[in-house]
Amino acid sequence: MTNKTDTPVAVIGLGLMGRALAGAFLKAGHPTTVWNRTPAKAGQLVARGARLAPDVGAALAAAPLTIVCLTDYDALHALLDPGDVDLNGRTLINLTSGDSAQAREAARWAERRGARYLDGAIMAVPSGIGTAEAVILHSGPEPDFAAHKPTLDALGTAVHLGADHGLAALYDVAGLAMMWSVLNAWLQGTALLGTASVDAAAYAPFAQQIATGVAAWLPGYAEQIDRGSFPAEVSALETDARSMAHLIEESEAVGVNAELPRLFKAMADRAIAAGHGAEQYPVLIEEFTKPTP
Ligand code: NAP
Repeated sequence: MTNKTDTPVAVIGLGLMGRALAGAFLKAGHPTTVWNRTPAKAGQLVARGARLAPDVGAALAAAPLTIVCLTDYDALHALLDPGDVDLNGRTLINLTSGDSAQAREAARWAERRGARYLDGAIMAVPSGIGTAEAVILHSGPEPDFAAHKPTLDALGTAVHLGADHGLAALYDVAGLAMMWSVLNAWLQGTALLGTASVDAAAYAPFAQQIATGVAAWLPGYAEQIDRGSFPAEVSALETDARSMAHLIEESEAVGVNAELPRLFKAMADRAIAAGHGAEQYPVLIEEFTKPTP
């Protein structure tokens, strides 16, 4: 794909992340207009060739594409809601973190204002922006994503998830669920082994191997969930529940926190009580798709 580095772009919000985004556009050669509530934060970008817009309207008018990266959606609306801010005909890509409802509501708001809108989530820290490791998720109309993909490539790996504007926010939190779960499971094991004077560093490679092995099960388990059929090909949930009880007993016996294993045993017990004991682990999706009891 042609990298259209001559395409002008505007960046609104020059916090830690906004400055990294604007810096990556400048590095790729895009004529870059910036605006920030506190103009002093634009200093280094201006020194590198960015144009500082005198007001937010001027930033929006400077380029067909505007990237917005603010603290939260309240800041977005405080800044862009006023009627004298002209969004008509503009494309906004909002990389501000928020939830799926805020993203969908912002899409309707932008449409009412005559703007095209994509919602996004940044899976990177500022120092990674501009490298392929910086994955930036986008959701909203595919043609709007495709039209600006050559520009977005300057920021990292631009991914389009689908037309539903809420998807980027949902993938964002789904990733967090994975991250906290893996880390908490690892800490549980580290605490258990610590009671036998095993260093965290000694356990870490073993834990990594287990996590990688379990991760390899996911595509097959996902097929069971999508089919809604959970034959016990490897082990039955009631067998898994017995090993959960063992984990709880061992944690209690050696005096480490047993809250986490008790939580997942409670979920397995509910599924077993509902008649799913002879099925395979992913049948627990039925517990996860219900509101918290
Ligand atoms: P930050 O350094 O705190 O910057 C916040 C930005 O929002 C500043 O430009 C600030 O302007 C602006 N702002 C806040 N309220 C405003 C208002 N009412 N009107 C106008 N401007 C307002 O935060 P950040 O790290 O750049 O993060 C920005 C977004 O990126 C957040 O949603 C964050 O979750 C997301 N993100 C950040 C990272 C990261 O590692 N930093 C990673 C992924 C996603 P002033 O400069 O005038 O205060």
